[in-house]
Amino acid sequence: MAEVLTIALPKGRVGEECLPLLAAAGIVPEEDPRNSRKLILGTNAAGLKLIIVRAADVPTYVQHGAAELGITGKDVLMEHGGEGIYEPLDLRIAPCRMMVAGRKDAPPVEGRLRVATKYVNCTRRFYAQQGKQVEIIKLYGSMELAPLVGLADRIVDLVDTGNTLKANGLMPLEHIADISSRLIVNKAAMKMKHARVKELIKLIRAALDKLA
Ligand code: AMP
Repeated sequence: MAEVLTIALPKGRVGEECLPLLAAAGIVPEEDPRNSRKLILGTNAAGLKLIIVRAADVPTYVQHGAAELGITGKDVLMEHGGEGIYEPLDLRIAPCRMMVAGRKDAPPVEGRLRVATKYVNCTRRFYAQQGKQVEIIKLYGSMELAPLVGLADRIVDLVDTGNTLKANGLMPLEHIADISSRLIVNKAAMKMKHARVKELIKLIRAALDKLA
């Protein structure tokens, strides 16, 4: 019997944007995840299934080997830390930048900078590299609001067109990282299921080149 491999796909826009890439690699889910409530989907490829999870949970499933492979944003991976995970391919999906932003009209900050973000670990690391201790305020969304209502002096968030910052009177201040979706692989699976995993990476790499 063929070895079973599982790919963890993120729910939502990035997951949807992965489908043409997977199709070009010859992998088609047996039901369209956009219309299905199923969390485990078989595919046309023997011994290959997909699980549909929250984007922020993809590295956790892959780290623990519940899925051998996954697709996730570099932001999510940086925040997770990437323990037990290889990142063999940049899928060039959903490119954007992780930035520090603040109010255009902000007065200089006295005392410790307050930074609102959902990327607590990335933010701590970024400022620690500059030798700065900051107060990090954890939020789950709409970070742009925080400087407008006095909750924080800065935010760390993803910026694509910059329109959201602009619409809220904010401006990008510092670049932290270039972000895009990555294919990730469980390190143990890379050893134990080497041939199958390698073959799958090769197929996805070829599909990327085909779509480029
Ligand atoms: P924009 O106005 O195009 O700069 O987009 C900024 C908003 O979209 C922010 O709320 C970001 O958190 C979100 N965003 C931008 N790019 C991405 C991405 N690649 N993945 C997820 N969220 C994003």
